[in-house]
Amino acid sequence: MADGSGDASGGAPDGLPGDGSAGAESLSGWDDTPIPTPDEESLGAEGSSGATGLTATDSEGSVTPAHATGGGGKADGLEGARVFIDPGHGGNDWGTCYGLTYEKHVVLEIALRLGERLAEGGLVPCLSRTEDVDVDYLKIADMANERGCELTLSIHINSMPGNPDYRGTETLYSNGAGAGGSFTSKDLASIVQSNVHAAMGSYDIGIIEREGLAVLRLATIPTVIVELGFMTHEGDRGKLLSEEYRAMIVEALYDSVVEALVRMRV
Ligand SMILES: [Zn+2]
Repeated sequence: MADGSGDASGGAPDGLPGDGSAGAESLSGWDDTPIPTPDEESLGAEGSSGATGLTATDSEGSVTPAHATGGGGKADGLEGARVFIDPGHGGNDWGTCYGLTYEKHVVLEIALRLGERLAEGGLVPCLSRTEDVDVDYLKIADMANERGCELTLSIHINSMPGNPDYRGTETLYSNGAGAGGSFTSKDLASIVQSNVHAAMGSYDIGIIEREGLAVLRLATIPTVIVELGFMTHEGDRGKLLSEEYRAMIVEALYDSVVEALVRMRV
């Protein structure tokens, strides 16, 4: 079901050292973003589902960003927390595609906006790439650790060539040693899946353990790969290309990060 991205058997080009770090360095100014009033206290306070503010948006027809009123809110108590964001693929690795729409471009756009949103919340986004360059996915875990990040979200889009009926959101995790302490990658997967599924309003494939994916297997902090939807499904694709849905996806990912970090501090 997954597109195989991050798998150790994949075809990442050689000669990539430095790509990721170059991208992250360009983010140095992001935490200077002015921070408006706090409004995230309720998130994760009871370790609740994380669907806060998204519950009205899960029907197929709604495109109203449920979080429009909360934009720019500061994540109380989480200032300075570092979060690793990996927009899947990049450069010579295009990921999935449909026509001239490439996964690597869609997920980068979403990741950059998520980075901006995290910075607005007082968090520090660290991205594996901020432009269309190759990234060595075998080094994602190291990059996240070197930058002192507490969790990693790797953002992808699925595809099922030959079967356009496949649709939905899924979040992948590994139970590998060291992938989280009391708060695990599986816990992070549950939070992300709940929020992103609510935002996408597509089929809920759920969370899936995948030990064969290097990005997950090598992780020493809670790490997930979220497959937002299927590029090959007309409905999913339409949402992924929609400004309104992208805004909701970004907010869902932001909420997920906040809820996870709050729970990690309990
Ligand atoms: Zn992918």
